[in-house]
Amino acid sequence: MKLPFVTQEKLEEIIQEYPTPFHLYDEKAIREKARALNNAFSWNAGFKEFFAVKATPTPAILKILQEENCGVDCASEIELLMSHKLGFKGEDIMFSSNNTPAQEFQYAREIGATINLDAYEHVAFLKDVTSVPETISCRYNPGGVFSLGTDIMDNPEESKFGMTKAQLIQAFKDLKVLGVKKFGIHSFLASNTVTNDYYPALAKELFELAVEVVAETGVTLDFINLSGGIGVNYLPDQVANDIMTIGEGVRQAYESILTPNGLGNVKLYTELGRFMLAPHGHLITRVLHKKKTYRDYVGVDASAVNLLRPAMYGSYHHITVSGKETLPETHVYDVVGSLCENNDKFAKQRPLPEVEVGDLLVIHDTGAHGFSMGYQYNAKLRSAEILLQEDGSTRLIRRAEKPEDYFATLYGFDF
Ligand SMILES: *Cc1c(COP(=O)(O)O)cnc(C)c1O
Repeated sequence: MKLPFVTQEKLEEIIQEYPTPFHLYDEKAIREKARALNNAFSWNAGFKEFFAVKATPTPAILKILQEENCGVDCASEIELLMSHKLGFKGEDIMFSSNNTPAQEFQYAREIGATINLDAYEHVAFLKDVTSVPETISCRYNPGGVFSLGTDIMDNPEESKFGMTKAQLIQAFKDLKVLGVKKFGIHSFLASNTVTNDYYPALAKELFELAVEVVAETGVTLDFINLSGGIGVNYLPDQVANDIMTIGEGVRQAYESILTPNGLGNVKLYTELGRFMLAPHGHLITRVLHKKKTYRDYVGVDASAVNLLRPAMYGSYHHITVSGKETLPETHVYDVVGSLCENNDKFAKQRPLPEVEVGDLLVIHDTGAHGFSMGYQYNAKLRSAEILLQEDGSTRLIRRAEKPEDYFATLYGFDF
């Protein structure tokens, strides 16, 4: 059973101060997750997690991760700017961008971020628009399909990211001539994997590639970046990934492939977003209306602007009716927002206990790719974000937008 990290009693207390809807984050669990990850990879001396900022671009959250020895992974100038302002040092910022504008490479160089080149063509571009750093990484795309056992996990062939093996080898040779001293290899082959086998399989593939690339180019390999892709158990019957098992699987691949080939000092990096944060955020929303036509509808005060994943990908997000955790699921509802779009549904035909107007619903696993994918369609404003702190108190870490925010960029009208 998937239970919220907050009780009905606590929620009733929080909403005295902050109106729904809002995103709520669990500080204690976020810290524990970061520690578990660092512990699982503690066998690798240079291990570092660079949290994918796009998942939860909220300064208070990034600061917590910084305190837990994580860096950040950025893909745009504003993510870089925010990370820099938050005091992340150059070496703690990975810039894994693609289709990158010149000024973003320039800014990444200015703040000393580690550049992860997405394209072979970006080698010449980087040299033209700024200077070539001493340490650089290249992103690999093996093409074909990526499968684990009989399951096809994802389709690198169709992915716009990364370079072919031949391009990666040529990029390393070119970059060496341009003065690069230390190299990294990065790859992201499958998203939201709910299996302990993804990272070990990816690691094996990248470690074998690394041995081949080093033999062919003679470069000094500094790090291998396993990137994101460890998923979460959105469905109640899914089993959560076990990071200790994953770390151990990667260690075995490391010791059987890298160490015997003289690469036993290579640092491992990760760029996890979803795994770090998704389970530790809830979207809290209140039931405004019930409606009965061909289906039974529950209308809430959040909408797809607060959480796009169900509308965009048909994603499942578990829903708990706060205070009715143990009641039987006797009713079937579509749980909907108020956008003028029929895909604005948090759940379709979902069994739930009987819902009443005024109930608080907890939408689970919204801590990553939740608030950050929000938008303002139908002139809906972005919600607040609230941190449930370790001592049980709450802190507003982002206020809800006001009408003035919506109108702020307009010229010639005074609202
Ligand atoms: C999105 C992204 C991540 C994080 O992915 P998750 O699925 O949230 O773990 C990491 N690295 C890169 C380059 C990304 O684009």
